[in-house]
Amino acid sequence: MVDAGTDTDLSALIWTPQRSAALDRLERFAPRAGRAYAARRNFDFGPQDRSNVSALSPWIRHRLILEEEVLSSVLQRHSFSAAEKFVQEVFWRGYFKGWLEHRAQVWARYRSDLSDCLEGLDRDPALRDRYEAAVEGRSGIDCFDAWAKELVATGYLHNHTRMWFASIWIFTLHLPWQLGADLFLRHLLDGDPASNTLGWRWVGGLHTRGKTYLARASNIARYTDGRFDPAGQLATAAPALSEPALDAPRSPQFDATPKDIGRFGLLVTEEDGQPETLDLPGRPSALLGLAATAERSPLAVSDVARSFAEAAVGDALSRAAEAFGAEPAHTGDLQPGAEAWGPRLVDWARNRDLSVIVTAAPPVGPIRDSLTTAGPVLADAGITLLTVARRYDRAVWPHAGKGFFQLKAKIPKLLNGLGLSA
Ligand SMILES: Cc1cc2nc3c(=O)[nH]c(=O)nc-3n(C[C@H](O)[C@H](O)[C@H](O)COP(=O)(O)OP(=O)(O)OC[C@H]3O[C@@H](n4cnc5c(N)ncnc54)[C@H](O)[C@@H]3O)c2cc1C
Repeated sequence: MVDAGTDTDLSALIWTPQRSAALDRLERFAPRAGRAYAARRNFDFGPQDRSNVSALSPWIRHRLILEEEVLSSVLQRHSFSAAEKFVQEVFWRGYFKGWLEHRAQVWARYRSDLSDCLEGLDRDPALRDRYEAAVEGRSGIDCFDAWAKELVATGYLHNHTRMWFASIWIFTLHLPWQLGADLFLRHLLDGDPASNTLGWRWVGGLHTRGKTYLARASNIARYTDGRFDPAGQLATAAPALSEPALDAPRSPQFDATPKDIGRFGLLVTEEDGQPETLDLPGRPSALLGLAATAERSPLAVSDVARSFAEAAVGDALSRAAEAFGAEPAHTGDLQPGAEAWGPRLVDWARNRDLSVIVTAAPPVGPIRDSLTTAGPVLADAGITLLTVARRYDRAVWPHAGKGFFQLKAKIPKLLNGLGLSA
């Protein structure tokens, strides 16, 4: 059993974009992931004290550390029943990713609605004023304004605070949810197309149809430990948002794991920062790292979020270089822009004499979009792109087509199948 560390150890948080930092945080947090987490996880004690939550999401999101590693570490220290709450939270990430795989249309619609909302700001000066006041932390609601500034400064908000923030944005400030989701995605270190888009839709009553989340002053006062009390300032009703019906869901598709393909190059992206444990068809001959953080939004993505993702790719590349003995390609252009991925990949493949590129299967989001755009360019150049999915995604995503509770019921079986039983 490792030393649980003092609260000060766990509070002093700097999100270094390296796997070693993720492992260190996991080692110190895991002893607290049992009943202590279940009892105190909903408190937001402020940015100086993150001792009651894992704060692992920036690393998990970029897969510098894997869900399986986190679950394994926690279940080695706690019984399943003691750690059940934490385990469920980890499964929410795979649930949202899998749900979006079933309905990629939700991501495409969000992107197009967001463009409309941004144009709408140009047509409606009053709306633009309200939007800018919210984004800059000048809404007049103290807690909300503090959180808007914390988001920009740190790239992180506590889960409960994300729920309060989104609820106030939608139901008190009457701003379009897509603009709020965009603000989060541009600033969060863990900015994730699935958890973020679906988190906002969940608050607005679009995920579980008609079921909204209303932020209440008394709840905020209690769970911020009295730091804030917006009594009388918040909406008292949260009528569900509505939207046109969605197409029928489609089951997630996984490529067959490629075998015996000869020489290939490995593309490392911000979606998977652990290339050395991918189920690869051999040892790659060349390595390339690319990111699409800048594609998260038509607006500027924060330096904090962008540099975290870029450094995560760098960390992954150096581990891959060590594991495979292949030199990473030096690229001055880590974020080529969706249209430029095709020419960039063709250029790299030709220079390294490669006809096959392998990469971790990207979930719905900017990396998938960039690779889809690159597809015809690669095909024209005679280059094959193969994707390899992780067994965790293969196991979890197929069960994520409906509500979380359907997946939740399967957690013990899924853990068993992954060899992670307590
Ligand atoms: C409006 C809104 C937007 C969000 N946007 C994002 C986002 O862009 N990226 C992101 O990673 N998470 C997002 N979340 C989910 C959640 O808030 C964060 O994952 C969590 O706060 C991360 O902090 P933690 O690591 O300390 O979590 P812990 O409480 O320690 O939980 C452990 C792990 O479980 C997972 N997890 C916990 N809660 C959730 C959840 N609700 N959904 C999905 N996974 C979860 C995360 O991987 C987390 O690291 C959003 C939630 C809301 C309500």
